[in-house]
Amino acid sequence: MSRLCLILFGAPGSGKGTQAKLLRQSLGVPHISTGDMLRERVERQDALGLQVAGILQVGGLVPDETVNALVNERIQQPDCDKGFILDGYPRTVNQAKILTGLLESQGVSITLVHLKVDYNVIVARLAGRRQCPACGALYSLSASAPTVSEVCDYDGSKLVIRDDDREDVVTERLKAYDRQTTPVLEYFKSVDVPIWDVDGAAPGGPLGIAKRIRSLIEETTGRLSGGVN
Ligand code: AMP
Repeated sequence: MSRLCLILFGAPGSGKGTQAKLLRQSLGVPHISTGDMLRERVERQDALGLQVAGILQVGGLVPDETVNALVNERIQQPDCDKGFILDGYPRTVNQAKILTGLLESQGVSITLVHLKVDYNVIVARLAGRRQCPACGALYSLSASAPTVSEVCDYDGSKLVIRDDDREDVVTERLKAYDRQTTPVLEYFKSVDVPIWDVDGAAPGGPLGIAKRIRSLIEETTGRLSGGVN
């Protein structure tokens, strides 16, 4: 079977991270989040971390060469032999072009899933999101509330609302997301990458959505090898 590259696309709050974690288990491939990798470097305060800290703080985009190099290096690791799930990358047409060229030369097939969620639902979801300032654990007041209200299950810290989850900031992030992703989706369409729109607020919840994505991957893999269509 060919190596799989699953790109999870979706606005902040669309459930990309949740899906990546569920699919990582069932597909047996790693979840690669450029946001997590960059945050880790910022915490470590190495040269790259110091260079990008300010950009992350204001929600700007880290230069393409930096994220391209991080992803290129990461997908050469042995745990990516069967494939990998990308979350938060590519975010620009240039990143998408570099990735496509890189994977083409390695015979990897790309499947892109676009998790679509109504923006009003996203604003409500993010408004109910809380984070532990000490360990970083994320909670949702509607879907995964802490055992004791507003207190972290792991270390007892008082939970906070992330600055970038406040409603006015969320609206700005959603606008930026639209500006960034539309050209990237157009690019993938132009090079015939299969793009699947998936309802990220479907009634079956996260497990139902993960099941739907798995069946789309099967369909795509069959089609790419000439089995379907
Ligand atoms: P995320 O957790 O995916 O929202 O990413 C957090 C932050 O990391 C973003 O606001 C950007 O500053 C940076 N970042 C993550 N992925 C990328 C990317 N593909 N290109 C440029 N910057 C990125």
